Amino acid sequence: MLILVTNDDGVYSPGLRALAAAMATLGEVVIVAPDRNRSAVGHALTLEHPLRAEEIESGVFAVDGTPTDCVNLGIHGLIMQRPDLVVSGINSGSNMGDDITYSGTVSAAMEASLMGIPAIAVSLDAKQFTDEDLARATDFVLVLTRRVLKKGLPPETFLNVNIPSGRCEGVEITRQGKRSYGQAVIVNEDPRGRKYYWIGGTSVGFENIPGTDCCAVSRGFISVTPLHTNLTSDSFCDDMKNWELACRTSDS
Ligand code: MN
Repeated sequence: MLILVTNDDGVYSPGLRALAAAMATLGEVVIVAPDRNRSAVGHALTLEHPLRAEEIESGVFAVDGTPTDCVNLGIHGLIMQRPDLVVSGINSGSNMGDDITYSGTVSAAMEASLMGIPAIAVSLDAKQFTDEDLARATDFVLVLTRRVLKKGLPPETFLNVNIPSGRCEGVEITRQGKRSYGQAVIVNEDPRGRKYYWIGGTSVGFENIPGTDCCAVSRGFISVTPLHTNLTSDSFCDDMKNWELACRTSDS
């Protein structure tokens, strides 16, 4: 059993180390993670420059790239072996609703899923971890991982787990919810009088849609959302066929 552990908070993140320690009870663990915090880089792949990987401890690689780079490099350049599972996290801060599209944590799991490897992304709804939060998170991830290894996951499907902090009422299987953000771009002036813009809207809440990740975590439940990589809107696909779109064809 070989498990690749990665994240987007960087190789020195306590969440990553706690996750790796838990996974080590199931099999051999290799960590391949960004050498610094690369949160919110989404599914970015580095193509414009070469990547470097440094083995900072035995079986722990720090890569000057994105989480998606780490999964690629890990499997095709460093381990040279297909892992049985890829686990990403434990992220500092939840990845629910719209966050999923920005999340490097989730994207690393998505990358593994695209390669046909079972994958789980794990986030904790707290900026600072307590030992109790981490212990509860790793306990649950172990339970879930054992189940995934036994039952498998459907093709193109991976799991996004969000864990509340402070309390825990149970586990819910959820759908991706809808988050709302406050002022998304802060405009200010630097000391030399030039304007700067800083993206980073604070979350002001979420739409109260029952059965979603945001809803579950806000009520103190661990949310497990099965995601798939195929983004097609099947229902609208059918609707659009009635648009009768036409174009100039080769023989017109
Ligand atoms: Mn992060």
